Amino acid sequence: MTVDAGKPAAAGALGTQDLHAHSTLSDGDLSPARVAALAAERGVQIGIADHVSTRNAERFVSSLAAVERYLETIEALPVFVAGEFCWCDGMWRDLPAEVMDRFDYRIGSNHGFSLPDGGEGSPWWKRLPAAWEGRADEVMEAMVGNLCRMVRTMPVQIAAHSTLTPPALFALEPDVHAWWTDAREDRWVEALAESGVALEISNRYRLPHDRVLRKARQAGVRFTLGSDGHTEAQVGRLEWAVETARRVGVGDADLWVPERRRRG
Ligand SMILES: [Zn+2]
Ligand SMILES: [Zn+2]
Repeated sequence: MTVDAGKPAAAGALGTQDLHAHSTLSDGDLSPARVAALAAERGVQIGIADHVSTRNAERFVSSLAAVERYLETIEALPVFVAGEFCWCDGMWRDLPAEVMDRFDYRIGSNHGFSLPDGGEGSPWWKRLPAAWEGRADEVMEAMVGNLCRMVRTMPVQIAAHSTLTPPALFALEPDVHAWWTDAREDRWVEALAESGVALEISNRYRLPHDRVLRKARQAGVRFTLGSDGHTEAQVGRLEWAVETARRVGVGDADLWVPERRRRG
């Protein structure tokens, strides 16, 4: 889907916004107030983007009532009001529009992807299940297809840790380009460019790799930086992401910058 492109970044913006942080409202270690205070100490604007998903009903924001409580809590803080939605969970389809609209922006994440046999793959798979042994390339192909559908379907502004690739594949062949081939990178970049969804540079996962970032920049895709921080050590920390952005030529003008909605 096509989304609001956000406003242009001010000069010197690179590294001043961490748009992906977690709190105790889902699986983070720190209270939302502590996340806000830590970001201020570290000199970054922060977006609290807790998991809004039924995938882990105990820990995640997993019902309409819980989403409303979540929004009330973070709307009172000097942070961007965000949420991380799972591609593999239908909650983003079920929430009313007026609730979805209260987020300053929404993040879409591949925490699980559909396989052609009806099963679900994981980007964290350390070993391929028996049915997929010897078929790693098909798994990769399915995952890239899911990512492209994700940005074309989900009402999100950012694709987080998108090129996260199952370790089971790197155990077979460590070269990232063996899996992220030119053709797959091109499909992914085209889906991002056409949907207008921004590509997150993830400080936590150290993704994406340089070649796809350079292609995305060439295609006019916009970028965000995210710590994906869950801990005191991680929240607001963007060193790797900033260094990577500079290395591949991503500058202030290439950033996607959210706007805080006016709240009564
Ligand atoms: Zn995630
Ligand atoms: Zn996250």
